[in-house]
Amino acid sequence: MIHHYALLRQGFCLHYFSGDRETGERTIMKCPFCGGSESRVKDSRDVGDAIHRRRECEQCKGRFSTYERVEKTQLMVIKRDQRREPFDRQKLFIGISKACEKRPLSVNEIENAVEEIEQEVYRQGKQEVPGSVIGELVMDRLRTMDKIAYIRFASVYRSFGDVETMFEEIQNLLNREKGE
Ligand SMILES: [Zn+2]
Repeated sequence: MIHHYALLRQGFCLHYFSGDRETGERTIMKCPFCGGSESRVKDSRDVGDAIHRRRECEQCKGRFSTYERVEKTQLMVIKRDQRREPFDRQKLFIGISKACEKRPLSVNEIENAVEEIEQEVYRQGKQEVPGSVIGELVMDRLRTMDKIAYIRFASVYRSFGDVETMFEEIQNLLNREKGE
């Protein structure tokens, strides 16, 4: 069984596919920009049950990433009400972008954060991940990137019911900063 999907982003593409190692079934990797089938591997890393490769197209020099894995099912996110939904990288990107609005952060920095978080999720090698685990990863990352973005994200994510909780969060942040 082969799952094959690609997500195009600014000047960079993340390309997932999985082949079946047991039957030797192969997936032809096409460049998401020009459709060329020859690409050079620039970097290769083991991320749990998948191999992450950075590739460059021989034809158009476009860069894209692949996660190569034998996969029976798509990674699912367990929501608070116990419903499951497929892990959605785009959603992650939008959530972080919103928190970073009008902050001095480049699209590239946000992309890197998304990629790191995603890698961490895959590294755990589970088929189902609670949404809270992803939320905490985002907060860890934003905390080091931009404090305002962090507070914004946390306020939405933890849906502060009152000002006290929000102050508590800010206090925690300041304490951690002192400790760093
Ligand atoms: Zn190409």
